[in-house]
Amino acid sequence: MTPVTEYLADSREKLTLTAKVVVLAPVPEALDYAVPDGMDIAIGDHVVVPLGHAKVRGLVIGLIREAIDFPLKPILSKPDDPPVPENSLHFWLWAANWTVTPPGTFLNGCLRALKVARAQVRLGYVRTGIEPARITKARERVIETAILPMGLGELALAAGVSEGVVTGLAKEGVLEKVALPFDDRIPQPDPDFAPARLNPSQSAAHQLLQMEMAKGFAPVLLDGVTGSGKTEVYLESVADVLRADPAAQVLILLPEIALTQAVLGRLKARFGVEVAQWHANIGNSSRRRIWEGVATGKIRLVVGARSALFLPYVRLGLIVIDEEHDSSYKQEEGVRYHARDLAVFRARMDGAMVVMASATPSLETLTNAEKERYTWIRLEKRHGTAVLPDIELIDMKAHAPGKGQKNEQMWLSDILVAEVWETLKRREQVLLFLNRRGYAPLVLCKACGEKMSAPNTDSWLVEHRSSGRLVCHLTGFSMRKPKICPHCKAVDSLVSVGPGVERILEEVQSRFPDARAEVFSSDTVPDAASSAALIRRIEDHDIDIVIATQAAAKGHNFPNLTLVGIVDADLGLKGGDLRAAERTFQLLQQATGRAGRSVKPGKALLQTYTPEHPVMQALAHQDREAFYAYEGMSREMAGFPPYGRLAALILQAKDQKLLDRFSRELALFIPNTDGIDVYGPADAPLALVRGQWRKRFLVRADRNRDLQGFVNHWLAAIKRPNAIRLIVDIEPYSF
Ligand code: ADP
Repeated sequence: MTPVTEYLADSREKLTLTAKVVVLAPVPEALDYAVPDGMDIAIGDHVVVPLGHAKVRGLVIGLIREAIDFPLKPILSKPDDPPVPENSLHFWLWAANWTVTPPGTFLNGCLRALKVARAQVRLGYVRTGIEPARITKARERVIETAILPMGLGELALAAGVSEGVVTGLAKEGVLEKVALPFDDRIPQPDPDFAPARLNPSQSAAHQLLQMEMAKGFAPVLLDGVTGSGKTEVYLESVADVLRADPAAQVLILLPEIALTQAVLGRLKARFGVEVAQWHANIGNSSRRRIWEGVATGKIRLVVGARSALFLPYVRLGLIVIDEEHDSSYKQEEGVRYHARDLAVFRARMDGAMVVMASATPSLETLTNAEKERYTWIRLEKRHGTAVLPDIELIDMKAHAPGKGQKNEQMWLSDILVAEVWETLKRREQVLLFLNRRGYAPLVLCKACGEKMSAPNTDSWLVEHRSSGRLVCHLTGFSMRKPKICPHCKAVDSLVSVGPGVERILEEVQSRFPDARAEVFSSDTVPDAASSAALIRRIEDHDIDIVIATQAAAKGHNFPNLTLVGIVDADLGLKGGDLRAAERTFQLLQQATGRAGRSVKPGKALLQTYTPEHPVMQALAHQDREAFYAYEGMSREMAGFPPYGRLAALILQAKDQKLLDRFSRELALFIPNTDGIDVYGPADAPLALVRGQWRKRFLVRADRNRDLQGFVNHWLAAIKRPNAIRLIVDIEPYSF
């Protein structure tokens, strides 16, 4: 035990052991507290300290023995939570700084899992022997599966049904709720459980990865078309790391949408155990269990969405970022960060390898590979006999379905329709892709022209006909579709404008009445279990035509799916987003890649009004390099990422006058710095959200400039009124 105070022999000065504590509150700096006699404190420990009149939690980030000339408040207590490993603590503090966030706010987010008590009992379902009133295939599978008690999500996933089927059976008494046996053993992944048999090009890629692994910190771009076996290859590297160092941990990051049963099943098949998973839909008690397991080093393999990067790893040996280009790695609420960029820093800190896998890398990553900052490993061909689909453009200027006729409300061209017929005749499956949820993206009044929007928000309401509601996808606001225009009171004057997936379903049902068609979007498959259930039905060929948003664009292999129709290829190109073209290219490449994943040849048809656009040309000619060259050039000319750096500052307030005044004032304090330009203040793209007005500044800096330093320096020059909220977004995506 460390003595808390000491007297130096030759002086009367008293030395006190002081702890630097980041309290979990928006305080700009760490605070000093005295460590009381007899309390054993180390860096990374959780503590409770006084702050004003309140008691707050905090983390110890430093300890010094120093002479102080005023009394410090003491640490009050030390909660019984596993300490944060030093590597992770340093990473969190660094990330707080990088994202221009007060450290307490940032750490609070990282420690959220500890807010719930440790679960003592977990409830599950088991069959009772009572017969259900009504039997379906799905119900049958649940009853067959529930021999032993299983958690709700687990059971639904294992049976391949949505959770509703399970709770429905419980209501009827066919299943009962029981306490699950408490089990805190953590099954360890076995790197040799089921090694892959790699083909020669995959083996070559794997060997290159092994050489990288030996280097310690090593960023790698694993670049290969969909289906080339990138996953197979990186799973072998995961096994290598687990095998080589019994203390190393591995993190596999996936886009939230890709965390499906298919992927989890694949991990289980490879490593022989359920791998710890971390994403938005896991329960609180699992959250706490995983957090503690990672902090103590007992959990060695985690698969998760972006926030899994902030688990308290002791030491990471490998981070995989699958689909590294995916925009879901960018956190757009609360603390804004890009998980890929931060993962590379974390890997550097831990001396780990970081593998970024993609068929359509981000321009940032590709540029890093070209400049040899990252090692570039390629997989050129699809595995086995599968080939890339033929891709054709349909010029909608010539082929849009009959303008001005009664079928004006249709969106599928004659060419696409004919191809769907052919495919159905061959008893193969079709995917129609439209990245728009609901029935229509806009509802307007044909009497007065009013566009329906959420209260105090300048974003349109989307019509969802399946639920009969108008929904704001931004704020979550929803209302019944009114009969009367709320603006001019005209009756039956509201018309739906443009298509969403539900409307395409309507068109498909009228054109192909005998085909079994279904929508695959986050509305029809809200959770992992229902998504697994739908995927299974597509695999079983219970569905002929899938009408899908991006929820289905990636990750799945449907061997009998041979035609992909892109309903509106131009959709993503609209809107003033720096990455609009890149994102459209990536998404459409992924979507068209769904066709012909096995022996049967596939075809993709893209409906577009701009067939001459570089994105469409690159897709049609399968010429990725041409697209990146074009995109890179336009970004370089503007000095935008990856050739420069960006930050967005968004100011938000209820009081529009106050906001305008403060924005103009802030503009007066812009530091004059070489190589950094500030644009604004301007209205933010969403200038009004939930009654909050928003102004925006955009900061563009040359690559070698200290962007965060500039922002901090600028913001420190003037005090911001409390009524104005500030959001700092480093490397913003939408602005
Ligand atoms: P990617 O991650 O590049 O899209 P995957 O690793 O998912 O590619 O591979 C695509 C499909 O091919 C998967 O179904 C996978 O199981 C199969 N596959 C790839 N490589 C092999 C291999 N060496 N042996 C057996 N199956 C393979």
